Amino acid sequence: MPTGWDYLVDLQRNKPGTLAKIIKHNAPRYVKQQIQRLIREGKIKNVQEIAEIAIRENKDVISVLNELGVENKKNKYGKGAIKCAICGSHERIIRLYGLYICGRCFRERAHLLGFKVMGE
Ligand SMILES: [Zn+2]
Repeated sequence: MPTGWDYLVDLQRNKPGTLAKIIKHNAPRYVKQQIQRLIREGKIKNVQEIAEIAIRENKDVISVLNELGVENKKNKYGKGAIKCAICGSHERIIRLYGLYICGRCFRERAHLLGFKVMGE
């Protein structure tokens, strides 16, 4: 299952109320802080306005936020930097042989990848 608030935002792209709620509740703290700064500086009135701009201009919320100068940072190192190529999970990633697949997906597909499953 894909994770992350940017995925949620993409899923609800045509509902301004829901989008505003996701930004308010699911956005990471550094994004919320930057939005609060924008409101303080008077560039936008409220969170709802971001959702309305996105729908009016037919863009996704992330790129609207980028244009307003809000960064949605990606992890460059650590557990958050690599994810499963199939399900997007950050847990139990197998990097051996350049697989980049999580342990769960690997177990389900090992026979397809040509691995011999022992003890089953
Ligand atoms: Zn996986």
